[in-house]
Amino acid sequence: MSARILGVHPADDGGLPMAVRRAAAAGARALQLFTAPPTYYNEKVTLKPDKAAKVHDALDAAGIARHHVMVHAAYVLNTASPEEPKALRARAGLAKELERTTVLGAWGCCFHPGSAGEGDPQEAAVRVGQAIRHALENVPEVNRTRVLIENTAGAGRTMGRTAEEIALMLAQVPPELRHRTGYGLDTCHLFAAGHDLHSSRDAQRALLEHFARVTGERPAFLHLNDSQHPFASNKDRHALIGEGAIGAEPFRWLLNDPFSEGIPLILETPSERRTVVEDDVTADPADARMIALLEGFLAA
Ligand SMILES: [Zn+2]
Ligand SMILES: [Zn+2]
Repeated sequence: MSARILGVHPADDGGLPMAVRRAAAAGARALQLFTAPPTYYNEKVTLKPDKAAKVHDALDAAGIARHHVMVHAAYVLNTASPEEPKALRARAGLAKELERTTVLGAWGCCFHPGSAGEGDPQEAAVRVGQAIRHALENVPEVNRTRVLIENTAGAGRTMGRTAEEIALMLAQVPPELRHRTGYGLDTCHLFAAGHDLHSSRDAQRALLEHFARVTGERPAFLHLNDSQHPFASNKDRHALIGEGAIGAEPFRWLLNDPFSEGIPLILETPSERRTVVEDDVTADPADARMIALLEGFLAA
């Protein structure tokens, strides 16, 4: 059994190096970060080399590879928006996300494509693809860092709930830039969007193969989350693994499937701590428990 690259998205109180230390303390080999406050566009925020160097030092000390780091883009970047000023600002924000992610030497930055609003979904997909292209054209390729679409739970007119939509967005990127982009799958979002990853191992396999066939490639990362809400609810509320509507068993199948090999597998499950002391390097107890649970699935 080959090991899996399991990670968490820890609190970053006290700075990004503290998040790295908390991930390592949870027993993780990977982690996800925000490089700027996720409720802002941050289209002018750069990651200074001295700040990046501190993150690299923390990663080296923790024994976590740079390409096991994922960056999650700001939630407010609605690159699909039919309102032009909003879409343009989101596009600028996405390019900066990729720039900051590249400075870190991270695996990639994932983003939610946003909502088509009152507009045509086809046109929205084109706008998302153009935003990816804009980011790739404005940030030189270094360290193979990629910009990655995250599938969504499908609430309202949000884009990215199906493999077909993701493929349509990726198809807007010119072939010579295509290797610098891709997508990842969040298990809670899949389940909430009505994809069967839970009824049987065969159903899960068929689902993963469907995404690979339609998009032309395997996912570049997975987010491992159980769901607080039932199947096909379109509600994006994460639960601890085995404590939601998906249940533990589908995660055991997923971790033992070749699809989860060699890519970051990031938990975005609820934390136990309500507040985090800035200089506290210990892991959130729930994160440590989840990593141990998943490791157990692999050993079994
Ligand atoms: Zn996300
Ligand atoms: Zn996610």
